[in-house]
Amino acid sequence: TNNDKKPHAAILTSPGMGHLIPAVELGKTLLTKHAFDVTIFLITTDPLTARSQIHQQTSHLKTPPNVVELPQPDVSSKLGPHPSLVDRIVVTMTESLPSLRSFILSMNHPPSLLIVDLFGTEAIPMARDLGMQSYVFLTTNAWFSAFTIYFPAMDPNHVENTHVKNREPLLIPGCLPLQFDDTFESLLEPQGPMYEGYTNVAKVINGSDGILMNTWQDLEPSATKALGESGILRRFTNGPVYPVGPLVRTLVERETAGLELDNKVKQWLDRQPTESVIYVSFGSGGTMSEAQIVELAWGLELSMQRFIWVVRPPVEGDASGAFFDVGNGGNGLLEYLPEGFVERTKELGVVVPMWAPQVEILGHPATGGFVTHCGWNSVLEAIFGEVAMVAWPLYSEQKMNAALLSEDIGVAVRAKAEDGVVGRDEIARVVRRVMVEEEGGAMRAKVKKLKASAEKAVCEFGSSYECLRQFRTNCELHLRGGSDAKAR
Ligand code: UDP
Repeated sequence: TNNDKKPHAAILTSPGMGHLIPAVELGKTLLTKHAFDVTIFLITTDPLTARSQIHQQTSHLKTPPNVVELPQPDVSSKLGPHPSLVDRIVVTMTESLPSLRSFILSMNHPPSLLIVDLFGTEAIPMARDLGMQSYVFLTTNAWFSAFTIYFPAMDPNHVENTHVKNREPLLIPGCLPLQFDDTFESLLEPQGPMYEGYTNVAKVINGSDGILMNTWQDLEPSATKALGESGILRRFTNGPVYPVGPLVRTLVERETAGLELDNKVKQWLDRQPTESVIYVSFGSGGTMSEAQIVELAWGLELSMQRFIWVVRPPVEGDASGAFFDVGNGGNGLLEYLPEGFVERTKELGVVVPMWAPQVEILGHPATGGFVTHCGWNSVLEAIFGEVAMVAWPLYSEQKMNAALLSEDIGVAVRAKAEDGVVGRDEIARVVRRVMVEEEGGAMRAKVKKLKASAEKAVCEFGSSYECLRQFRTNCELHLRGGSDAKAR
C-alpha cells in the first residue's frame, strides 16, 4: 500500500516544556513540509499543561499529528529522597518504555523510525529490536551537540588534569573551546557517575542512524562544518548530523492560527515605544532565591527601562524549581518583591506571574531586549523577535549557550554573579547596555540579519530544508530495504 512507502516517524518527548515544544515543531515540519506520517509519543509529568501546549501548536493544522499520551509511570520507589532533575527525567523515561513498546506493537501502521531527544536514548535499542530506524533530535545548538558527540572520545584523566584541575579550556575539534567558567556539570568529576552516565548517553547518540540539531549552518558555521559529512567530528558518529533548524513557534503562524496576544500585556505593550521594553524570563523551569528576586526587582527599577517580568515564587538552592510543574502555585507572589516595587513601577513595567506568552511578547515591536536563562528555544525565539539579550544562565548547558551568544555570535551581554548572586547595580548596568547603549543597537542589527538567514535556511532549497530532505531520503531507503526484505 501507499502507507508502506511513506516514512512514519514516532517522536518521543521527554518531560519539560523545553523538550516538548521543539519536538512538536519537528513533528509539524516533517508532516507538513516533508510528507512524513507522524505520531508524537508524549511523556509528561504535567499532562494538562502539555496537552494545552500541543493543542496551541497544532490545532490550526488541517491534519494535526497523531498524539499518544503514555500513562504516567509511578517513579517514587525508583528515586532517592532528593533526586536530581536529570535523574527524575531519566527514570520517568525508562519506566515509560514498556508502555511505548506495547503501544507500537499494537499499531496497524507502525512507525518506521523513532526520534528521541537527549533523554530518550534508552528507547533506541528497543527501536532497533522492532526493526525501526533511530534518530536523535538534539534540541540545542551545534556547539553543544559537537561537545556531546566528542565526549566519549575524551580521556577522563586528561580532562581531570587539564580542564578540572588546571582550569584550562577544553578543546573541541573544529569548534570554540569551552572555558572552565562555562563548563558543563558532568565534566567536573571525570571519575564520577555523571561523567560516566553522559559518556554512555553520548555513545548511544553516536551509534544512532543520525542526529538532528535545532540550529542552522549560517548561525554556527564552524561547528556545523565540523559535524558535516567531511568534517573533523564526523568520524565519531555512525550516521549523518543534520542542522535542521530553527524549528520554532513563530508569531506569523500564531497570528494566522488566531493565537495572537490578547490581554492586558498586549494592551500595555501596544502603548510603549518601539524596542523600548525588556522581557525578563528564565524559561519553563527557572527559579531563584528570595535574595536574588529582590536584587532583580531593584536592578530593573534602577535601570529605569520598561520591562515585562515573569516572576515565580523563590526556591532556595534549586535553579530548576519549576521544571516538573510549570505554571503552578503563583499565589502570594508579590510578597517576595521589595515593598512598594509594584506601585513605584506601575508605569514602567508589568509583572506576570509564573508563565507568559513568550513568542508573542518577544515578537511585539515594543520589545527590544530579553533577560534570558539562555534555554535554546528562548534563544531561537529571541532571534525571531529581533531582540538583544542579557545572558543569565542558570543550569544544564545554559552557560555554554551564554558563551556562544556573547563571545561567539555577539548578540548578548553577560550578567556577572558575585558569590552566586547577580547584584542590583550589575543588573541595571547590563539592562542599560542592551536597551540604551549603542552596543544594544548593534546587537539588534545583528539579530535581524540572523533572523533573515534563519528564514532562508528553512525555506525550500535552504540549508535546513535540504538536510530534512536528505533525512527523508535516508528514511525512505530504509523503508524500501525493509519491505524488500519482507517480500523475500
Ligand atoms: N515559555 C513560555 N512562557 C514562559 C516560559 C517559557 O512560553 O513563561 C516557553 C518558551 O517560549 C520556550 C520554552 O517555554 O519555548 C522554554 O524552553 P527553553 O529551551 O527556552 O528553556 P527551558 O524551559 O527548557 O529551560
